[in-house]
Amino acid sequence: MLIVHMLAPIHVIRVLVVSSQAGLIEIYVSTMLFEYVQAQLRMLKIIESRWSGMCTSPIGGTVNVKKFASSSGTIWKYVFEFEGAIAEAVLYRYNKFEERTVICCSVQSGCPVGCTFCGTGKSFIRNLTCDEIVSQINHIIYDNQLNIKETKKFQIMFMSMGEPMLNWPVVGAAIITFRSMYPQHVDLLVSTVGIRDEEVWGKLVELSKEIPTLGLQFSIHQAYEVERDRLIPYENKYSLREIRDKAIEWHMVTGRRVYLNYCVSKTNSDLFTMERLKDIFPKDICHFTFSVICEKDKGVCSTHNIERVNGIIEDFQEEGYEVSLFNPDGQDDIGAGCGQLWYVQDYLENKV
Ligand code: SF4
Repeated sequence: MLIVHMLAPIHVIRVLVVSSQAGLIEIYVSTMLFEYVQAQLRMLKIIESRWSGMCTSPIGGTVNVKKFASSSGTIWKYVFEFEGAIAEAVLYRYNKFEERTVICCSVQSGCPVGCTFCGTGKSFIRNLTCDEIVSQINHIIYDNQLNIKETKKFQIMFMSMGEPMLNWPVVGAAIITFRSMYPQHVDLLVSTVGIRDEEVWGKLVELSKEIPTLGLQFSIHQAYEVERDRLIPYENKYSLREIRDKAIEWHMVTGRRVYLNYCVSKTNSDLFTMERLKDIFPKDICHFTFSVICEKDKGVCSTHNIERVNGIIEDFQEEGYEVSLFNPDGQDDIGAGCGQLWYVQDYLENKV
């Protein structure tokens, strides 16, 4: 028999164990350990009860894998052909793999959101299964013999092909799978345009509470609704102010900053537009990531306006925002941005 007493406010609990041989045994256990065990049990409960899309095998049914290396020697794009679908994932090395490694993976084959700048957005084949999502990462880890435990910063981002909120709960199951495979060592990031689905949003918030290394990013790209609707024509999405409110809600329950992804072009980066962006999104809860637009046409240079991007970063930093630059290397030679690769675009067009 086990009796547990919390001796609040002291940070230990008294556990009384009645043994037939030794009689009553008193054990004192740190509440930190107790909380850790509780958290693990909560995680198991989530896996058991909520995630019907849970992976059966972390090495899914990959049929054919192609690898493209950028001239920088630090970025590789992988293309996976699964049964009747294609997926792409990108591996980034910052100095050494042990310093910082980032892997972006696909959650859908093609994408129904239809962003006008994205080669993926013209076609949608199907949702990827949890196995297919997890196997992209596992293949890359195996192919490069990555030592996750020895890596200072290892990040997995759900931000290549597809919209994570449109493939929930499968993406949730993949997140839990990664978390249980690599506890504490991996930072995870869900990147969404902000699909208007309160049920999925609630589950995403709940999972973010459970997993302290799970981050959230909204793709913004425009500071005015009309322009944003033109660029991201998917109708059923949150407005910019609703995204701001969701960001505040998420920040309140997790204590973490929300990332805002903004691809800078000639038409969305004038002074007034940038001021409007600052008016909408508060600096104490947001972290802006500025990047260049991933051009879907192979001949069009993505990185021509990198100086403009750097100027915006400086300006936002001076105003007290947390800001970073998304590394544009690899976009002009291997199409490292989502759906940029012609091989993938051809596959999607022929398949649909
Ligand atoms: S940018 Fe992302 S959300 Fe938009 S169409 Fe491409 S994959 Fe989908």
